[in-house]
Amino acid sequence: MPRAPLPFAFLDGDFIAAADARVSAFDRGFLFGDGVYEVIPVYGGRAFHADHHLARLAHSLEGIELDSPWDDDWWQSRINELISRNGSGDQSLYLQVTRGAEHGRDHRFPADVEPTVFMFSTATPARDAAVDRNGLKAITAEDFRWARCDLKTISLLANVLLRQQAHAAGADEVILHRGGHLTEASVSNAYIVSGGRVVTPPLSAELLPGITRIVTLELCASLGIPVAERALTVDELDAADEVWITSSTREIGPIVSIDGKPVGAGKPGPLYAKLRAAFDDLIASWRSGSAPTV
Ligand code: PMP
Repeated sequence: MPRAPLPFAFLDGDFIAAADARVSAFDRGFLFGDGVYEVIPVYGGRAFHADHHLARLAHSLEGIELDSPWDDDWWQSRINELISRNGSGDQSLYLQVTRGAEHGRDHRFPADVEPTVFMFSTATPARDAAVDRNGLKAITAEDFRWARCDLKTISLLANVLLRQQAHAAGADEVILHRGGHLTEASVSNAYIVSGGRVVTPPLSAELLPGITRIVTLELCASLGIPVAERALTVDELDAADEVWITSSTREIGPIVSIDGKPVGAGKPGPLYAKLRAAFDDLIASWRSGSAPTV
């Protein structure tokens, strides 16, 4: 079940009751999926690596040729105000920008239309301790998404269909491959551990540059765990000692079975446990205000 939004939302310049948030049926987000978004985790009232999220938002806006009139200070102050109006603590903040609404429907960009800016947040559920004990299940599927997966666009139909395919198969996530090499997963980035080394596909237009991916690779570096960013085959996935996924929502998750076959020993592995502990420490320091913030 989706989490209900916290009481306040931000829509086109105003903080309003989330229950009252309405946009035009002519909004290009609704008609064309013409927009981009971000999901920013909030720990102890502080937006986690908001600087990285705002840099990726700028990349997505540029990628869809949407001129952004807002600078990072503008975003940061609205984000912080929404977090505090919604009671601070731990939240997941959703932010969306569409090309706006004009009266009619035309694929070409409209002139003089204000983009629609929408934000809301939800409370973060308590972490499920069973995941650390039992892990997560994945299936694999051909990646049939478009050729600009580096842009975080709201046109998510392929991801929706793929995620649903995993759900229908009783799995938590679907790991995607294109022509035999791994790209990412439907809502997360993917990694294998092999011979003590963490391997993940390099950044390209085939995958989203995950913010949790940046954090995970930094944590590996700080723990002295070797990392390689290189192309990965489906065969390497099958032979991996451990498989992980990362996202802002899930943080880091251990995959223990793929297409019904166990990964390694069929339970969360030792490097996962190390990374999980380091991630928990980082979040705790973020909550307590000792980690650097933007
Ligand atoms: N890939 C895809 C397709 C995603 O949707 C997401 C986020 N939901 C990610 C990767 C992970 O990105 P992040 O770590 O920034 O949440």
